Amino acid sequence: MQCEGFSHECDSQDAIKYRMRTAYVDDERNYMILCPYCQKESDDYWQEQWDGLDRDIMAGIRDSCFRY
Ligand SMILES: [Zn+2]
Repeated sequence: MQCEGFSHECDSQDAIKYRMRTAYVDDERNYMILCPYCQKESDDYWQEQWDGLDRDIMAGIRDSCFRY
């Protein structure tokens, strides 16, 4: 299958329907047609997003604890 490309144009024909590390309510949006390279790229990207989110939440908790 032709890769959709995650962050760039990709000509790979080695793609599969891949479930990304996302949590869209509309489940179809959690899938893209990606080759192994773009799958890795998507994993790394979303891992970073989730890590960032965790950091923000933890910072928020910490701030509210110290405020009172
Ligand atoms: Zn690709």
